[in-house]
Amino acid sequence: MTLPDLPLATLRLHIDPDALAANWRALDVMSGTARAGAAVKANAYGLGVDLAVPALRDAGCQQFFVAHWQEVPAVLRHVPAAQVTVLHGAHNAAEAAFARDVGVAPVINNVQQARLWQSGGGGRCHLMVDTGINRLGLAPDLLGDEAVAALDVDILLSHLASADEDSPLNAVQCDRFEAARAHVAPRRSSLANSAGIALGGGYHFDVTRPGLSLYGGIARPELAGSITQVAFPQAAVIQRRTVSAGASIGYNATFTAPQDIETATVSIGYADGFLRNRGAGNTFSYNGASLPVLGRVSMDMVVLDCSNCLNLREGDWVDVPFDLPTEAERSGFTQYELLTTIGQRFFRS
Ligand SMILES: *Cc1c(COP(=O)(O)O)cnc(C)c1O
Repeated sequence: MTLPDLPLATLRLHIDPDALAANWRALDVMSGTARAGAAVKANAYGLGVDLAVPALRDAGCQQFFVAHWQEVPAVLRHVPAAQVTVLHGAHNAAEAAFARDVGVAPVINNVQQARLWQSGGGGRCHLMVDTGINRLGLAPDLLGDEAVAALDVDILLSHLASADEDSPLNAVQCDRFEAARAHVAPRRSSLANSAGIALGGGYHFDVTRPGLSLYGGIARPELAGSITQVAFPQAAVIQRRTVSAGASIGYNATFTAPQDIETATVSIGYADGFLRNRGAGNTFSYNGASLPVLGRVSMDMVVLDCSNCLNLREGDWVDVPFDLPTEAERSGFTQYELLTTIGQRFFRS
């Protein structure tokens, strides 16, 4: 059976392509003589690959980083395979064969992967060396391994553990990376994520890999003046009512109306990424009027106090608070978590 066209969603996420392009350009300029790439893993940090990748490509970005092989097809709809990098590496024959067939170079993360890649014919690849995050990548003392030495390394990568802090580990990792570069002699080198870009010229090398700050996150205070909000979520009012004095609102009756109160129930809940601890004390807004959250966040709904906005009607769209640094500060979630937990029910445009 063919279904008729779906009615319009009651939850929408606007991605501002100009803000995204401007953030990429700002990060590219801040990267000095290096070129900025873009981390577009996890569906472009929740914003949507189909909106984010074309905007980044048209701004001039030519290097796109994902984590999983399963993320490759969506990115290939918009950019050539030679510009895509899969960070998690090629662990087995199936992944290595896929890499070779589509022309997406894998990041080699250990000796076994180096051998696997070489035994399948070798060719252009990238190499991740672990300089101190101790997470993923080749230990520097294995750079002399025969299979590793035989690799045709395009980009030598490493990842900073504490670039968002003024940690002595940053300089230590940078020094170890310099040493690894001297050993490998790759075509290009890449160390800095968003925060790393703000650490200065010594961290830039040839390619930078911003993610968070492309999407409006402020990875370090130095970036605050140059990065603007990209994602704007809105939820529709699905019910207006008057709650009588003494009545409670929501699960577990955590809020009781001190007097008759005008409320708007909106179509967003924790299943959409508006997790419970983003509710208490927070406010939505409508045309500049603020609408405090009342009671608990449900799976699909939040109740707002619209006493100072009595013209609010069912079907109207309210702005969900999403200034990333502010929301992170008040909720305890990181800016990364706020982006990547944006739900699937949003209509993205
Ligand atoms: C996710 C990721 C990035 C992007 O980091 P941000 O902090 O979001 O800028 C860069 N490099 C690697 C290896 C990553 O995993």
